[in-house]
Amino acid sequence: MILKDVGEFGLIDRLSKIILEEDRDILVNIGDDTACIKVCDNKNLLLTVDTQVENVHFIKDRINPVDLGWKLSTANVSDIVACGGYPKYALVSASLPKNLEVDFIEGIYYGIKEAQDFYRFKTVGGNITSSNQIMIDMTLIGESSTFIPRSGGKPGHYLYLTGYTGLSRAGLDIILSEKKDLTETEKFLVKSHYRPTARLDKLSILLKFAKSSIDISDGLVADLYHISKQSKVKVVIQKESIPIHPALLEYCKNVDKNPYDYIFYGGEDYQIAFTSDSFIEEEDIYLIGYISEGEGVFLEENNRSSKLHEKGFNHLI
Ligand code: MG
Ligand code: MG
Ligand code: MG
Repeated sequence: MILKDVGEFGLIDRLSKIILEEDRDILVNIGDDTACIKVCDNKNLLLTVDTQVENVHFIKDRINPVDLGWKLSTANVSDIVACGGYPKYALVSASLPKNLEVDFIEGIYYGIKEAQDFYRFKTVGGNITSSNQIMIDMTLIGESSTFIPRSGGKPGHYLYLTGYTGLSRAGLDIILSEKKDLTETEKFLVKSHYRPTARLDKLSILLKFAKSSIDISDGLVADLYHISKQSKVKVVIQKESIPIHPALLEYCKNVDKNPYDYIFYGGEDYQIAFTSDSFIEEEDIYLIGYISEGEGVFLEENNRSSKLHEKGFNHLI
């Protein structure tokens, strides 16, 4: 058997069985956006890690290293926010080819520096080793008083989203098309891919209202499947309530693609999807559906409901 046969999530299951241990201070173990460790009453540490690998997550000649450092940081901050925390301390580990330009790796660290000023965390250590390709890995520690799990969704909850999805994937398609002379719309989508922003600005709303939440890193539908499975509920998206960014609409019209393919299945937007028993009226908080009894993720349109495919990004397949 090889990794391709088990896939990313199958592998996580198998490895968890080897390594998982319970402890009374481990409030949340493997299987959520972050782990959660109790320090004392009202204070928990959130732990997460994310990696960017050359030719898997980025192509060296096509990415500005500053953007790479920013994106690595954003992916980590987003997981901390999804669990109700704010970022505090990071460790950065870099595996680098010996012939790499110093400017390139310094660029990555300038991007991390920009992100740590913006999201207010500090990098306190790391490691450097040689390798055949560039691999840069961040471990981020956050702090929270309340942990918001994937598993807190209940029938009757409202389903909310903090913003537009699909922009990053459309930007990636434009980058891969190698098109020259981009329009303003295309430039905006490309920027959405290279410079996503984690929704730390919505943390207070999440802490006030969210009962379950997840960040949209693999795609809206794929990530809502995690809410569905871990909360043991049915997630219903109402099509007419989904926010569609005008830039995505314009791009899809020009290239004859369906914007909902991007909205539902495009990853790396780093918005937050969450459920709540409260009706919320706040800026950038879109009510996109509801939770009911059952399982799976469904799309409701004109009083008809159909099950959405679970495809999304799965490493190793
Ligand atoms: Mg996540
Ligand atoms: Mg991940
Ligand atoms: Mg992540």
